Amino acid sequence: MPSGRIKVHDKTFEIFIDESEIQKEVARIAGEINRDLADRDPVFLGILNGAFMFASDLFKQMDFPVQISFLKLASYAGTSSTGTVKQLIGINMDLKDRVVVVIEDIVDTGVTLDTILRQLSGYQPEALIVATFLHKPEATIHKIPLDYVGIRIPNKFVIGYGLDYNGYGRNFKDLYAVVGD
Ligand code: 5GP
Ligand code: MG
Repeated sequence: MPSGRIKVHDKTFEIFIDESEIQKEVARIAGEINRDLADRDPVFLGILNGAFMFASDLFKQMDFPVQISFLKLASYAGTSSTGTVKQLIGINMDLKDRVVVVIEDIVDTGVTLDTILRQLSGYQPEALIVATFLHKPEATIHKIPLDYVGIRIPNKFVIGYGLDYNGYGRNFKDLYAVVGD
């Protein structure tokens, strides 16, 4: 059991939401998805790296056979004047007319999710549904409908449960918030 405080690089983090609270919300979302989507043959697309832990916990509680794949947003220096373009990579199945459920770790400004949904809509799915573990409503500028939300949090920088600070800390089963910001 980790103690209440951890240090990653130059920052100190303290426990913010513990494992039992997280698992309670994951179970709630799983129940909602089982109820809503069992007869719609959904395909779940987890967004790497951050969503791996939420996705894994969630999928274990799906009580019908589901299809699962993972995608990643790759940055590359585009030739466009807008600079960096992020491309969704790893799509290896036909999404046309499918009910697609995007599994995200966190929606902050919403820019990332907006990018993901725009690219996925090009595959002409029947529906695009979003399940995010965390949402920072105060920071969200892209008003994207979020179908399933685990926990709404204030504008704090958090790590653990899949989320990192400079590559470290994704492994913790509790969620930690930075101290002093
Ligand atoms: P958005 O595009 O919604 O502003 O941000 C999405 C991405 O920013 C997330 O996928 C995540 O990588 C990162 N992010 C936003 N807020 C946090 C946070 O509190 N902690 C961590 N570790 N990453 C965050
Ligand atoms: Mg993410």
